[in-house]
Amino acid sequence: MTSSARSAWLRTLGLVGATVAAGLLCGAIAGRPSLGTAIGALVALGWQAWRTRTLVEHLTSGRHARPDVSPDIQGEIERVLHRRQTSTRLRKRRLVAMLRAYRAAASVLPDAVIVVERETQRIVWFNEAGTTLLGLRYPTDLQASIVARLPALPLASWLARGRRAGPLEAGSPLDSTATLSLRLLPYSDDLWLLVARDVSRLLQLEQMRRDFVANVSHELRTPLTVLHGYLDMLDPAEQPEWAPMLEEMQRQSTRMTQLVEDLLTLSRLESRVDLPTDETVPMAGMLAALRREAQALSQGRHEIDVGDSAGVDLHGSPKELHSAFSNLVANAVRYTPAGGRIRIAWERERDADGGEGVALSVTDTGYGIPAAHLPRITERFYRVSNSRSRESGGTGLGLAIAKHVLALHQARLDVRSDVGVGSTFSCHFGAARVRPRLPLEHTA
Ligand code: ADP
Repeated sequence: MTSSARSAWLRTLGLVGATVAAGLLCGAIAGRPSLGTAIGALVALGWQAWRTRTLVEHLTSGRHARPDVSPDIQGEIERVLHRRQTSTRLRKRRLVAMLRAYRAAASVLPDAVIVVERETQRIVWFNEAGTTLLGLRYPTDLQASIVARLPALPLASWLARGRRAGPLEAGSPLDSTATLSLRLLPYSDDLWLLVARDVSRLLQLEQMRRDFVANVSHELRTPLTVLHGYLDMLDPAEQPEWAPMLEEMQRQSTRMTQLVEDLLTLSRLESRVDLPTDETVPMAGMLAALRREAQALSQGRHEIDVGDSAGVDLHGSPKELHSAFSNLVANAVRYTPAGGRIRIAWERERDADGGEGVALSVTDTGYGIPAAHLPRITERFYRVSNSRSRESGGTGLGLAIAKHVLALHQARLDVRSDVGVGSTFSCHFGAARVRPRLPLEHTA
């Protein structure tokens, strides 16, 4: 109990005592002390009841309490109540001001921000960019279904994915030349935040970069072919003193040609969303080709082993898949010292959705890759060791190509590696890509 509450309590007791004593005194003068005491006690009780009633009235009225100046305990209760109400009001005002500031900040964001009710998919709130980017109207579209309001966007199936909904790219409903990137952020159990951003400029720059690389590579192709052709015509045996120089020139021109071819492959893959030539890829033939390539590259320096326990084929583009797999096999040979082992395995496995998936993995007992490099090795021209990559004839694009090819097949590249022990590169395909293996006569 605080000191002011204690003194109010003592004052109340004193007041009650004084009233009863006054009654007793008056009663004694009148010769009826008991009656006087009873009347005094009744007055004190009545007064207390009246004060308590006033207090209850204040509490239940919901009005702001006035600071009571009465010195008794009820007065103290009213004073405490007044202090609490004042601080609650101040806090509420601060919160409302903060909320307004947040709304004002959100409303001027260049991205469209829409608060959507999870259950009903109705619009609760949206900012100004919701109008400029998506054409939502204030206030008519509040409480409207977002799916019905924006029929041009494939929102129904996307919202149905809920927390698993990844970013969605779609054409703008207002401008056919613009592209929007939509993200769904579930921030509470009942509300979702839908953020839409205009990514047209970003996509345009990306396209410019792709076109530039494709054009440069294309333009370099012809001069390189000419140079390569002339170099091939020069016989080092005729000019023995020029032999080392000629060999180096031939090696470098082969490397440049390979680099240009890889860059062209990459731009071709990047500009494609769907594969044009989806067909059943006979995996027995693919594995045999990979074995032959590994043996040719290894020149007997490695032990090469191929396992085919899956016994199924793959649905996809044979040329692209072969290019991805052979890059992994070539890397395994190039980054494994002589005497090492390389295993190519084609095995069934559970896919991410629990279906009957399949994986092709290439395991080597080579140099391995330090863990810090693993997240970046599929980037273009990223090399763990520049000298080792160049010495072994690498262009720095093999894994980037493999990753793109797999993405076009909705597949995933997984890399596990230990320095000095070896690496496993595995390509994981979902059940939708698995096809039963055709009898031999059909595949021939
Ligand atoms: P590169 O043409 O340089 O081999 P890649 O894109 O194929 O380019 O590979 C990127 C880098 O990843 C390589 O430079 C190499 O450092 C590393 N790497 C790839 N495969 C292996 C492997 N099997 N063992 C060790 N390192 C590897």
